[in-house]
Amino acid sequence: MTNSTKTITVAGAGPVGALLTVMLARQGYKVDLFESREDSRLSDIYQGKSINIALSDRGWLALESVGIAEEVRREAIPMYNRVMHDLEGNLTRQAYGKEKQAIWSVSRSKINEQLVSLAEQEETVSLHFNKHLTDVDFDTTTLTFNSAEGEIQHNSDLLFGADGAFSKVRRKMQEIPRKRISYSLEYMPQSYIELNIPAGADGSHQLEKEALHIWPRKDFMLIALPNPDGSFTCTLFMNQEGDISFEALTQRGDVEAFFQTYFSDALGLLEDPVGEFMSRKASPLSLVHIYPWVVNDNVGLIGDAAHAMVPFYGQGMNCGFEDCRVLNELVTQNQNDWPEILSKYQEHRKPNGDAIIELAKRNFVEMSELSGDASFQLCKKIEANFHDRYPNLWVPLYSMVTFSPQTSYSEALRVGDIQKRIMVQIMALPNIEERWQDEDIYEHLHHLTVSENLKGEKL
Ligand SMILES: Cc1cc2nc3c(=O)[nH]c(=O)nc-3n(C[C@H](O)[C@H](O)[C@H](O)COP(=O)(O)OP(=O)(O)OC[C@H]3O[C@@H](n4cnc5c(N)ncnc54)[C@H](O)[C@@H]3O)c2cc1C
Repeated sequence: MTNSTKTITVAGAGPVGALLTVMLARQGYKVDLFESREDSRLSDIYQGKSINIALSDRGWLALESVGIAEEVRREAIPMYNRVMHDLEGNLTRQAYGKEKQAIWSVSRSKINEQLVSLAEQEETVSLHFNKHLTDVDFDTTTLTFNSAEGEIQHNSDLLFGADGAFSKVRRKMQEIPRKRISYSLEYMPQSYIELNIPAGADGSHQLEKEALHIWPRKDFMLIALPNPDGSFTCTLFMNQEGDISFEALTQRGDVEAFFQTYFSDALGLLEDPVGEFMSRKASPLSLVHIYPWVVNDNVGLIGDAAHAMVPFYGQGMNCGFEDCRVLNELVTQNQNDWPEILSKYQEHRKPNGDAIIELAKRNFVEMSELSGDASFQLCKKIEANFHDRYPNLWVPLYSMVTFSPQTSYSEALRVGDIQKRIMVQIMALPNIEERWQDEDIYEHLHHLTVSENLKGEKL
């Protein structure tokens, strides 16, 4: 155990803040975890609504390291395939990885609560709900919170801002006099609303259960992830403005026609999609870059506070969990030398945060446009075949990001770009649609790949 005299504050008891708290407490630190919301375990703030997200290998690895993976897996549903629904309701199935490789649908609130409960079991952890961070004094690491008891102040040696995409710690960092903080927030053209497909009358799933369903419609898409109770949580991503957009669709008749035209096979399954569409305000999607992530050798950002991204790669939480795992390893290696730990953490994680932000942004096109495209699907089949033949020479980008925690996000981005160049050449070969299983195609692909490797561009 490292020195336990340091006190640490974690602002934000979301999944990342809660996991980080567990890890730091087990390193011997006294940790105070502050959260602006009430304790959802004691209330019904989620009103039975299950918003689910995809957990994949990077997330699992971090959960395993604190011994909670099995508990989470008991209520998680593996999604082995993406199932595309075309306009006529025809289905196309595409495996996410090799046999048995899956991304897992988990309830966001449930996993958050499980991690908070795990943190609570640690003797050196104090949880503080209903405490809204309003100010940070970076010279003394003193935090100010609004609470029912009035304004309170709290002081510690170290502070982690795990307070999400609209982080207060981050905003306060930007106000430190003479600190050069680079920052950007970019809004995507799309916003989203969540919809629901309830369980069938017998409690079963009304669509294939162990799959992520996508209705790709180029500029917009609907996706559905399964829940253990037989329902699916659906998300409609669509432009905020423009011809087909949240702002354009304001009349009931138009919304009905929209669902009828584009999601006819889902329409009968969705629970009051038109009413839900009309009554809900679409949420914006944004991505955030900030540098540095660390100031004064004792304040760091982590999770969405450091790298909010769009959800199209299903990696936001996974990346935040990986931040925690890497930081925890650095704590072990650097024995209480926090300037060193934080500097290495930033050096290691910032390029990876940037890479997954970029990959996630690009993936909207892949999901909404290309997933339904025959040429895209052929390209994926060729890649999968080639990967089967040469598993060490070629790992598809999706697999690197999702199933290969040993490959960093920035490495995945770099290699993925080279693979893309190579596949453009393969897809341009005459009659590739008929010849894609021919041996010479794979010989050519092998040759191109090895040539790239020889150029020093190791794939
Ligand atoms: C539609 C959608 C789908 C997604 N799908 C996936 C997916 O499939 N896979 C995946 O890995 N990720 C997904 N994500 C991303 C994932 O939800 C986030 O990356 C993850 O929740 C980040 O965790 P966090 O703990 O860093 O931040 P948050 O979950 O935002 O938690 C931050 C916490 O800080 C608290 N807080 C905020 N401000 C203050 C304050 N001033 N004082 C005190 N407390 C404060 C908040 O109440 C909150 O509890 C998705 C996101 C969206 C929007």
